[in-house]
Amino acid sequence: MKGFLYEGKSKTIYAGDSFDTLVIKYKNTLTAFNGEKSEEKEGKGSLNARTSHLIYNYLSSHGINTHLVKQIDEVSFICRKAEIIPVEIIVRNVAAGSFSKKYGVEEGHSLKSVSLEYSLKSDELGDPMINTSQILALGISTEKELKFLEKEALKINELLKALFLKIGIKLVDFKLEFGRVNDEIILCDEISADSCRLWDVETGKKLDKDIFRRDLGDVLDGYRELLSRLENTIGKEEKL
Ligand code: UDP
Repeated sequence: MKGFLYEGKSKTIYAGDSFDTLVIKYKNTLTAFNGEKSEEKEGKGSLNARTSHLIYNYLSSHGINTHLVKQIDEVSFICRKAEIIPVEIIVRNVAAGSFSKKYGVEEGHSLKSVSLEYSLKSDELGDPMINTSQILALGISTEKELKFLEKEALKINELLKALFLKIGIKLVDFKLEFGRVNDEIILCDEISADSCRLWDVETGKKLDKDIFRRDLGDVLDGYRELLSRLENTIGKEEKL
């Protein structure tokens, strides 16, 4: 592929055919703990690419603007080029992971309301948590943007909760990234088993990257099961 631009932990970015697009290629690399744990898993890239594609199409059909333009092969998409807002938004419905550790709440504890948390996108600094006043003070975003991001994140949460519930999955938490294109803010990056915690409603079985983080078995089994459940609902009408 022409025009290599940047290699991230799980994706490689190339220049697109026009000035306002990029090509994003999913890698087979799984990483955790800010890259400290890393493994190559054949097939992981295409599973996540397909999963994220289905989810982004679903969100976009429900009024969410995303960077997705078109899938070009098993692992590559043409996307709109956006100026990434360097803040990760973490949405939580159920306590787990760092939230449980930090606040001494058992994993699985249902939260009374949705928790929104922000971290600065910086590998060198280890993605530190940042609050909205610090985001404003550092000039990373504006009040107007933050208001929009919060509203959009909550809307995406409601849409995803409903989607996952339909396929017997509880949406515990997930991470979002947004970018600016002219006057618009669009959903960027990916939503997949790499960026969500997803538990089977009946059994509590994990279908996400915690399988890899915590050595709970073959991570791709979980990713495959998630994708097949999605394919059997929203994937059916879908044409690539
Ligand atoms: N997450 C992510 N990328 C990150 C940090 C978190 O995709 O750099 C996702 C993670 O998969 C989980 C949610 O955000 O679904 C909350 O993660 P948490 O803060 O609990 O972090 P962890 O326990 O993974 O360190």
